[in-house]
Amino acid sequence: MIIDCHVHVNQYELTKHVPLLEDRLEMLQTEMTSNNVDYAIILSSYKENSERPSTKQIIDAIKKYDNLGIAAGFTIDNHTDDDLKIYREWIKEGKIKAMKIYSGYEHYYPYDKQYQKVYDTCIEFDIPVMFHTGDTYSEKGKLRYSRPLNLDDVAVDNPELKIVMCHLGNPWIQDAQEVIYKNKNVYADVSGLVIGSFDHFFEKMMRDKVAELINYAGEPRYLLYGTDWPISNMDSYLNFVAKLNIKKEFRDNLMYKNAKKLFKIS
Ligand SMILES: [Zn+2]
Repeated sequence: MIIDCHVHVNQYELTKHVPLLEDRLEMLQTEMTSNNVDYAIILSSYKENSERPSTKQIIDAIKKYDNLGIAAGFTIDNHTDDDLKIYREWIKEGKIKAMKIYSGYEHYYPYDKQYQKVYDTCIEFDIPVMFHTGDTYSEKGKLRYSRPLNLDDVAVDNPELKIVMCHLGNPWIQDAQEVIYKNKNVYADVSGLVIGSFDHFFEKMMRDKVAELINYAGEPRYLLYGTDWPISNMDSYLNFVAKLNIKKEFRDNLMYKNAKKLFKIS
């Protein structure tokens, strides 16, 4: 079984030729089928426009699929308390499986008090909050907000909060592994380490870094498989993880078991 806990249905440069959300969802299904991916979590964006569907639009559009879940993007600048109120209803109805904070894209630290209401909601309903960490896929991002070390504050101050550090904080993977090692409530997904496909040398470099992270942080109860599709290619990603030198039981944890439990996927 394979769970990809990090995909997008926004219209990026790469998917400009697919203007309709419904068609991008079909594209996602085709990709999932051809790569034997059983379930995927779609992350809604930090902004809503013609290229970036709202959480509500995604909820409506995925009704006909039983293999998709949603992590709802929440921002200080573009969302209100009313939005959070609606999110709470959707969480109760099982339509939202996680929240997503876009640190770096949005210029606030993850420990900014303005996000506390989101963390409180996640704790109340026992759903994880995902954070963008590391390089931003936009020149407008500000890196000091997306450094993985910032999540240490959130993890320590909210011991009951389940935190997912997206992209292993790349390129600050050493910082990321310490935050993961120290805080039992911090998980990490391996998504978005490459744009498109891995080439031979980059793949080896990233494989060594992930191996170092696992050696340092220990048995990967925290590690989640994710790609960042369509920014990263699913087939290239499966090749990448297939070559990771890890025990069978750890591989199962990475590919689906950890995500199944964390996101409560039945
Ligand atoms: Zn992403």
